[in-house]
Amino acid sequence: MPRDRSHPRTHTYPPMASFTLHGIPVSRGIAIGRAHLLTPAALDVRHYLIAEENVEAEVQRLQQALAAVHRELQTLWNELPKDAPTELGAFIDVHALILSDPMISEAPLDIIRSRHYNAEWALLTQIDELSAQFDEIEDPYLRERKADIQQVAERVLKVLMGSEPLPTAITPAAGDEFQAQMIVVAHDISPADMLKFRDRSFIGFVTDVGGQNSHTAIVARSLDIPAAVGMSQASQLIKQDDWVIIDGDAGVVIVTPSALVLEQYRERQQAALRARKKLSKLKKTPAVTKDGTAITLLANIELPDDCPAALEAGASGVGLFRSEFLFMGRASDIPSEDEQFEQYRRAVAAMKGRIVTIRTLDIGADKPLDQSEHTALNPALGLRAIRYCLSEPQIFLTQLRAILRASAFGKVRILIPMLAHAFEIDQSLAMIEQAKAQLRELDIKYDPEVQVGAMIEIPAAALALPMFVKRMDFLSIGTNDLIQYTLAIDRVDYEVAHLYNPLHPAVLQLIAMTIAAGHKAGIDVGVCGEMAGDTKLTRLLLGMGLREFSMHPAQLLSVKQEILNSDLETVVPQTRKILRAMEPAAIAEAVQALQTM
Ligand code: PEP
Ligand code: MG
Repeated sequence: MPRDRSHPRTHTYPPMASFTLHGIPVSRGIAIGRAHLLTPAALDVRHYLIAEENVEAEVQRLQQALAAVHRELQTLWNELPKDAPTELGAFIDVHALILSDPMISEAPLDIIRSRHYNAEWALLTQIDELSAQFDEIEDPYLRERKADIQQVAERVLKVLMGSEPLPTAITPAAGDEFQAQMIVVAHDISPADMLKFRDRSFIGFVTDVGGQNSHTAIVARSLDIPAAVGMSQASQLIKQDDWVIIDGDAGVVIVTPSALVLEQYRERQQAALRARKKLSKLKKTPAVTKDGTAITLLANIELPDDCPAALEAGASGVGLFRSEFLFMGRASDIPSEDEQFEQYRRAVAAMKGRIVTIRTLDIGADKPLDQSEHTALNPALGLRAIRYCLSEPQIFLTQLRAILRASAFGKVRILIPMLAHAFEIDQSLAMIEQAKAQLRELDIKYDPEVQVGAMIEIPAAALALPMFVKRMDFLSIGTNDLIQYTLAIDRVDYEVAHLYNPLHPAVLQLIAMTIAAGHKAGIDVGVCGEMAGDTKLTRLLLGMGLREFSMHPAQLLSVKQEILNSDLETVVPQTRKILRAMEPAAIAEAVQALQTM
């Protein structure tokens, strides 16, 4: 039976030895809570908490699924062909027995009642616990029954996932102790899995693998909750229910902290809250430097649901809508034109007349369409983003029509990822024209003036800018990939994460060149990679001439504050010096000095 969590031990800390793990900070802030270990199987289902008044309905949903599987097994048994091997009948009997056992038919119901987990999550929690017990059994025959239990659970999950979930996901209330303090600990969480955590049942993430700018880290930041990745063996060393502190600014995780350490972190948490409150006063203040230069601050979003946060942060629009998040985990059922149109239109409507930059499908590498998909040897160098789209013209055309249709409802820009070759630009533009012609034929409205831009995220693009500015309406620098491809380090691989350096002189040169070339050609240039949201780099980017920053909404007000305190008269000459420097130590020192000017 699961442990009863209805009486959280908020102030009784386990007398276990405390230890600290060091990894990569990916999402700011401090989280203090109890570890919730998630196995890969558990990551396949959605996790949300059920409101008190709906707990019994959720219990019923699971009971109905169990009953449906019972009927399914019964039918299977009845329809067994006469000449079927006897093992088959016995096999169905074993599954029916497992299904009726209280460990499956009752324990998960208790978990829903005591922990308020949704039915799928409750069932998997119970299966994980049972699996761990089975692993310890010495008898190999009995140990193998674990597979049967898992198969039965899968049947129930299938029924559950096909049934309508209750629309009762809740955000834990501040005073709701046990629900408000779970920290996910897992070996890895894919960006698609992260989407399942959007209803905020958890307050922090710790993973063994991952890098600063992996898409998992980016989604953690977009959820605006503390996270640390690249923690090596965290999922082995941290035990279920251990008290854990995540220091998301330092990339440190403290396990079973002493009362004193805990107190210090609680104070830091409070101070951060106060600072955030102060920042919120800047929401309506125009982003203008001390010398009067206006800066555009845009938001990066993954789904239309992120738009309210963008508005709340005072964004002037969306600079990057990562449309692939609508597609992930749906390989066999990619969203139709109408479904996509509806999502793009929702984002456009939510932004109330502000610009919405929709990036076309950037699938591949660490964002596969389907987790089980065959992976290329070097996925980051493989059939990703525009390469994939040009190889799947029907998928691309469908998306383009959907985006164009949404452009009739507001200010939409189309952004194409990972371009490197002139023929890729030309083919993309030709397909946009084809999509427009198809809509015209059907008398469907779109904005004929819709702007089309290129992401500059491959060094070859940054070194061949005339090819781009001639054909494109605007440029957006994807520093995450630009760094990855310039320095030849996989942004997902934590073993080379220490080599991921935005201040490498080669990276700085490429960014500065792109901004200058765009402006010389009279087109807008923005940065939509993570560098745009890093306040330590705001002045450097301003000094390079950047006037458009796109970042996660949670970073926007801090960047605005930095802009308000910056004076281009001092920032520009210092940046010139930095761009001439080639020694990392000198660059780091000069960037530091820039912040205090
Ligand atoms: C980038 O590469 O900087 C970028 C913004 O795109 P993504 O992180 O989605 O690859
Ligand atoms: Mg990119």
